[in-house]
Amino acid sequence: MVLPVALPPEYLSLCPPELDRRIGAAKRALGERLVILGHHYQHDEILRYADFTGDSLKLSQLAAQQSRAEFIVFCGVHFMAESADILSGGTRAVILPDLSAGCPMAEMAEADDVQTALDELAALAGGAAIVPITYVNSAASAKAITGRAGGACCTSSNCRAVFEWALTQKPATGSTDVKILALPDQHLARATALDMGYGLDDCALYRPRLPNGGLTAAQVRQATFILWDGWCCVHQEFTVEQIAGRRREHPGICVIVHPECEISVVQAADLHGSTEQIIAAVAAGSPGSQWAVGTEINLVNRLTRLHADRRVLNLADAGGKCAMMAHIDLPHLCWALENLAAGRVVNRVQVAEPIRRDAVIALERMIRLKGAADASPAKR
Ligand code: SF4
Repeated sequence: MVLPVALPPEYLSLCPPELDRRIGAAKRALGERLVILGHHYQHDEILRYADFTGDSLKLSQLAAQQSRAEFIVFCGVHFMAESADILSGGTRAVILPDLSAGCPMAEMAEADDVQTALDELAALAGGAAIVPITYVNSAASAKAITGRAGGACCTSSNCRAVFEWALTQKPATGSTDVKILALPDQHLARATALDMGYGLDDCALYRPRLPNGGLTAAQVRQATFILWDGWCCVHQEFTVEQIAGRRREHPGICVIVHPECEISVVQAADLHGSTEQIIAAVAAGSPGSQWAVGTEINLVNRLTRLHADRRVLNLADAGGKCAMMAHIDLPHLCWALENLAAGRVVNRVQVAEPIRRDAVIALERMIRLKGAADASPAKR
């Protein structure tokens, strides 16, 4: 276990030009030994130092491909740095400039609770197989249980492909019935089930704090999708009322939201898609087109600047900010890089070997299953 090292206070008093000068100097000193990865939800002041930008999957795959780099500085949140460490086989040091940059949703599915859920559901399911599908926004320990239990990870781009794969798995029980335990984000799983043509009756909510998740055997046997009671606090801020408001203000506007939003919001929008699918949809829009985008505000603001010939608005008037991403600020980045340049590795994220061995199985299954390139229309 790595204990977080507190940021020396003197870094907090540095002005932006000084931070810029020192970050640039440390980057130059490290040269090809360093790669900086920046998530789409980061502020521009951080992304301008990134060698690559992308969503969590793309960045983890890029991390695995950096054969020349000794150090990967991940400007994202903790689960992303863990995935980068797992996929790069621990051969490079993955650094998260502030170890307190966690993801509240990832922390909603603790490994012990996931194992308990699999045991409880197996006992209730009447011989049906339970295949865990774990969103990449999860702890490495939850991914490891998933790999051991014959499941896979998924992203918001390929969740449907992974669900379809899971439902073709052959249960060792001899039963033909397969059920998916989808964790930790209930909203992504519910939206995907509906995209696949299933109904809300095919989904049951598993509440990890209740015995048997609060479900009866009859509810488990009826469901195809058992959804973990987890959510993203950023995407839960978007509402149907905001969509109605944007449509009133800007007739003809196209509303596109991330599937981590609640199902009522996904259904009220015109399109839903992953971060990469949202970026592609707005880029493919014609000049003069209008967009209301329901996802993290830093990405929406960037799309607004990038596409000045169309109207790109945040779906909400305020909010939509991932406070955890904001933990990676210029003082932490400067401090981490200056330590690396001085030969000291700080805030390394390193997944223990038994967890890595099983988690990589789930991640590699996810990578083999490609998702759709385009955002999906709402199923109402
Ligand atoms: S936007 Fe939501 S899911 Fe993504 S890192 Fe922030 S809290 Fe976690």
